[in-house]
Amino acid sequence: MSDVVIIESVVEEAYDTKTFRFRWSAEARPGQFIMIWVPGLDEIPMSISGIDGDVKSITVKAIGGATRRIHELVPGDRLRIRGPYGNGFDLSAGRLLMIGGGVGTAAVMPAVTATGADTIIAARSDADVIMDDIATAHSDNVWIATDDGSRGFHGNAVQLMREKVAEGEYDCVLACGPEVMLYFMYKACEELGIRCQLSLERYMKCGAGVCGCCVMDDSRICRDGPVFDNDQISKLTEFGVSKRDECGRTVKFR
Ligand SMILES: Cc1cc2nc3c(=O)[nH]c(=O)nc-3n(C[C@H](O)[C@H](O)[C@H](O)COP(=O)(O)OP(=O)(O)OC[C@H]3O[C@@H](n4cnc5c(N)ncnc54)[C@H](O)[C@@H]3O)c2cc1C
Repeated sequence: MSDVVIIESVVEEAYDTKTFRFRWSAEARPGQFIMIWVPGLDEIPMSISGIDGDVKSITVKAIGGATRRIHELVPGDRLRIRGPYGNGFDLSAGRLLMIGGGVGTAAVMPAVTATGADTIIAARSDADVIMDDIATAHSDNVWIATDDGSRGFHGNAVQLMREKVAEGEYDCVLACGPEVMLYFMYKACEELGIRCQLSLERYMKCGAGVCGCCVMDDSRICRDGPVFDNDQISKLTEFGVSKRDECGRTVKFR
C-alpha cells in the first residue's frame, strides 16, 4: 500500500544533498527504508533519515534523473511513498559506534538520535559532510573524517574507526556507506574482534522481497536486510565483489 505525504520542510545538507521532512504516521525503525515514486521516471529506495514521532524524513543526494527530480520538490509538494521496508538496526547490541559514509550517513542517523551513541561521519571533503549538526545535538562524541583532510581526521572511515575502537569500548559498529568502505570495515571488525551491522545497497524494484532483483546468495537485501551482521555477511559471496544493474547484469566493484 502506498501513502501520499506533504513535504513540510526542505533542508540543504550539502551542495548536492537535501533533507525532505513530512508527516507520516507509519511506525518506522532506525535502518528501514521507503520506496519513493517519481512520476514518469522511476520508483527508488531511500533510507528513512529522521524519525521524530509522526515526522519522518529522507535525505537525498542528487546523482541521476529520479534524485534530481526529487530535489525540485518544495514545501507543500506531494510525495507518494511505500513502506517502511527492511529489518533495521538492532540497537540492543551493547555499546554502539555509529559510522556514516557519504550519503550513507542518512541511514544511520535515526539510530544516532535514538541512542546518542558515539558517531563517525566520513566524507570526501568538508563540503560533503552531512547531518553533523543532528549528530552533535544527540551524541557527546561526534568525529568527522575527510579523505582530503579539509575537516577533522585526515583519512577514511575505516582508519578512524580503528583508532576509536582502540581508544574506546564498543561491542558493535553500525554503519552505512559506499560498499568499498563497508567491505574494509567488515574486514577490520573481524580482525579487531568487534561485531558489526552493515546496511547494504542493491538495485531494488519492489522493495518488498517479491521481485528478486536485489538477491545476494540466498538473501533478499530489501527483505532480509538491508542490515546484515558479521555472520550473515560472511556468507554473502557478492559482498564487496559485484552487484547487479537494473537488467540483472553483474557489475564488478573491483
Ligand atoms: C536500501 C537503500 C537505501 C538508500 N538510501 C538512500 C538515501 O538515503 N539517500 C540517497 O541519496 N540514496 C539512497 N539510496 C540510493 C538511491 O536509491 C539511488 O541513488 C537512486 O535510486 C538513484 O536514482 P537516480 O535515478 O537519481 O540515478 P540513476 O542515474 O538512475 O542511478 C545512479 C545509480 O543509483 C543506483 N540506483 C538507481 N536506481 C536504483 C534502484 N531502484 N535501487 C537501488 N539503486 C538504484 C544505481 O547504482 C545506479 O548506478 C539507497 C539505496 C538503497 C538500495
